[in-house]
Amino acid sequence: MLKMIITRFAPSPTGYLHIGGLRTALYSYLFAKRYEGKFLLRIEDTDRSRFVAGAEEKLQQSLRWAGIEWDNKEIVRQSDRLDIYREYVEKLLQEKKAYHCFCSSDRLSEMRKYQEKNKQLVKYDRTCLSLSAEEITERIEKGEKSVVRFRIPDDQENVTFSDQIRGKVSIHTYAVDDQIILKSDGFPTYHLANVVDDHISDVTHVIRGEEWLSSTPKHILLYKAFGWEVPLFAHLPLLLNADRSKLSKRQGDVSVEDYRERGYLPEALINYVALLGWNMGKGNTQEFFTLKELEKIFDIQHVHKAGAVFDIKRLQWMNAHYIKNLDIDILFEKTQEFWKQFFEKNHIDQEKFDEDFLKKVLSVEQERLLELSEVGEKNIFFFQEIAVSKEMLRWKQMEDRDVMSSLEKAKSLFESIEEKEWNQEILSTELLSVCDTEKKGEFFWPVRIALTGAQQSPPPHQVAWVIGKEKSIQRIANAIDCFK
Ligand code: GLU
Repeated sequence: MLKMIITRFAPSPTGYLHIGGLRTALYSYLFAKRYEGKFLLRIEDTDRSRFVAGAEEKLQQSLRWAGIEWDNKEIVRQSDRLDIYREYVEKLLQEKKAYHCFCSSDRLSEMRKYQEKNKQLVKYDRTCLSLSAEEITERIEKGEKSVVRFRIPDDQENVTFSDQIRGKVSIHTYAVDDQIILKSDGFPTYHLANVVDDHISDVTHVIRGEEWLSSTPKHILLYKAFGWEVPLFAHLPLLLNADRSKLSKRQGDVSVEDYRERGYLPEALINYVALLGWNMGKGNTQEFFTLKELEKIFDIQHVHKAGAVFDIKRLQWMNAHYIKNLDIDILFEKTQEFWKQFFEKNHIDQEKFDEDFLKKVLSVEQERLLELSEVGEKNIFFFQEIAVSKEMLRWKQMEDRDVMSSLEKAKSLFESIEEKEWNQEILSTELLSVCDTEKKGEFFWPVRIALTGAQQSPPPHQVAWVIGKEKSIQRIANAIDCFK
């Protein structure tokens, strides 16, 4: 019988969910779904110095927001399992595959300096490996602090494994340090806890970022020391800034939360992140994928080896695509918090604008929104009184009387259209019918400015439709007043 595929995402709760973390989680999730396996979430919180309160909740929220659900009801949290790890460390100690080390940090840094100076490989010099059992017991009983180190076997030359993305990887064991597996505070290190948990949860595929590649030989040696089956590994390429440096906060937003707050839709972020280092293979140019679609087609074999550049412009373009395709009621619902922010920021009383009005604004803005946080921002004239001047209303070298005549024409047109016919289609046709086709600018420019007070805006028929007949006539009349 074929083994069930089990993958996991194992973040450390040190802050927020990074875009790179989202990609790791997504690929692990998709791979498990594709093969009807399981995707697990585990919190690796054994490094107490890097622990951030509340970070785990944020991680979970971000994953859920993105639509990535894990299959384990109880999340594995490493800090709850110290006894388990200790048991395994004990086993290695008994089998002499691990040893206590009492070296102080001062001594270790002296040692490192010496090795560097003498161009030696920097690694633990095994001073404590020769301690007798009695001495160890005595020192522990006296309360001396110690760690436990894994003893890299001397009898094996290379650790070799076949990475699912980069192929054969081989490292000489001589280059591998006798890593610490249990710290003096009683917490295991990442290496030990990671291997023990992956084994206990029957993980078949470890999919993680390239930065962990150098840890993998250590992990493989640990699996072997325990006599356990080694899972398959896939190390994902780095995410890069446009200048090909490692994606970092300095060059823009990197957390999923930042993108949520700026008004990215989870569908867009997932679609974009899925394509950061993966495609369907030669000749397939499909760009838009839903999560459900990806669950059916994702495979590790099409993940690239080279780093992937994070291109915010492309993400924006993708977000705009998803925004454009939203039903207006759903768009309205999704923009609730952004409307609130917009009104607060601009000191406008939200109460004055009902759902109907906001939906009208949205239906005009929808085509142009890159991020949901932009709602209202570019078209503030929908919500505030405007001020115009002669100079603003003038198109190129137009005479005053010509500007007036354009405005008068628009005013009588608006007056002639009945309330029930006040819709975009009629407004658009009627406005075009009264303007001289040779002189569109002379007509539309003053009308646009009169209605919006802004040089850039949606076309006049859309603005007039949103603000309504009364306000449209009022604004045109105010503009005419500038010339009296
Ligand atoms: N805790 C590690 C991290 O924060 C997990 C690496 C792994 O997946 O093995 O990324």
